[in-house]
Amino acid sequence: LNYIPQKNKRILANLARSIQIILNRVTTMKKVLVCGAGGFIGGHLVKRLKAEGYWVRGADIKKHEYSKTQADEFVLGDLCDINVVRKCVDNDMDEIYQLAADMGGAGYVFTKLNDANIMTNSAQINIHIAKESVIKKVGKVFYSSSACMYPEHNQTDPNNPKCSEDSAYPANPDSEYGWEKLFSERLYLAFKRNHKLNVRIARLHNIFGPEGSWNNGKEKAPAAMCRKAAKTPDGGKIEVWRDGNQTRSFLYIDECIEAIRRLMNSNFSEPVNIGSEEMISINHFAQMAIDISKKNLSIKNIYGSEFLKIYGYECPIGVRGRNSDNKLFKENIGWAPSEPLRKGMEKTFAWIDEQVKKSV
Ligand code: NAD
Repeated sequence: LNYIPQKNKRILANLARSIQIILNRVTTMKKVLVCGAGGFIGGHLVKRLKAEGYWVRGADIKKHEYSKTQADEFVLGDLCDINVVRKCVDNDMDEIYQLAADMGGAGYVFTKLNDANIMTNSAQINIHIAKESVIKKVGKVFYSSSACMYPEHNQTDPNNPKCSEDSAYPANPDSEYGWEKLFSERLYLAFKRNHKLNVRIARLHNIFGPEGSWNNGKEKAPAAMCRKAAKTPDGGKIEVWRDGNQTRSFLYIDECIEAIRRLMNSNFSEPVNIGSEEMISINHFAQMAIDISKKNLSIKNIYGSEFLKIYGYECPIGVRGRNSDNKLFKENIGWAPSEPLRKGMEKTFAWIDEQVKKSV
């Protein structure tokens, strides 16, 4: 091997990888369904599963806005409709990734304006998927729960929030979105108990990165901060909701996908956090976006009557502090994310800056 030039080694390695993918296809090609494939995490997951040699069917009520799907098949339909779900789930399908949900950032989930839709749509999808997976003997089902299911009373101190998996009960999520997630976790666990459904459940904590909502009212803090920093002219101010002392952690999409794949390949079937432990205040987070933009911008905190006047609804109130606790994941799956928040934000800012420039 020492005599082969570096360039040829790379060609050989690529060839070996392609042969491996073809072999996977011919011999053990796994068939999977990704629900929510037209969304942020689902879109990235489809790419990863394709790169791993899977046959992928995507399903969503809409197409992906930012890239052409790589799924082998894409079902455009409402997963609240059992007939659509029946069409999507094949007999003996190897895996289902259930990421479809009616969701968005604080402006969507915490304003109380969308509660009825959030609860019915997502619960209906999960009931259909769980039942159909049992009927069609699906190998394994991944369910994307959320850190929003954790009780509000453990997240009142911005410097010391508690989000270990065993702190979920007594339950007291601060949004209907969180209650639906908790209900659906229990739904999948009930199907595991009574029908031996092989489930994996992740409590995702603020996932961010390119190719997610950034300007449609469903965007979350990382995308919103990047958009504001990209759009605001030098010398201007960027808006931060509330006093900005509330804390959160954010996980970059590539690490989220890595964690989902590792969880799926493990034997661990209890709910487990997937998130970053790098907690930051929202003011510091906004400053990070400003620094990355290399502009001279300042922060304007907005709430109360000023917020009401601008937006026409009360400033959304989320928990004061939230951070992932990765102990259980490390112990059982043997992995933890390691990329610093700033690196992920640099990549996200670059993508959003490009979108902003394209949109003017
Ligand atoms: P997303 O909104 O980009 O993707 C969800 C997708 O579900 C959307 O494309 C949407 O069109 C689709 N969908 C909604 N209702 C549907 C229906 N009735 N039929 C078919 N498709 C439907 O969100 P995301 O960030 O990719 O999140 C994926 C999953 O992860 C969701 O279940 C979400 O609750 C969960 N989650 C995400 C985060 C995060 O930070 N992004 C955090 C916690 C949990």
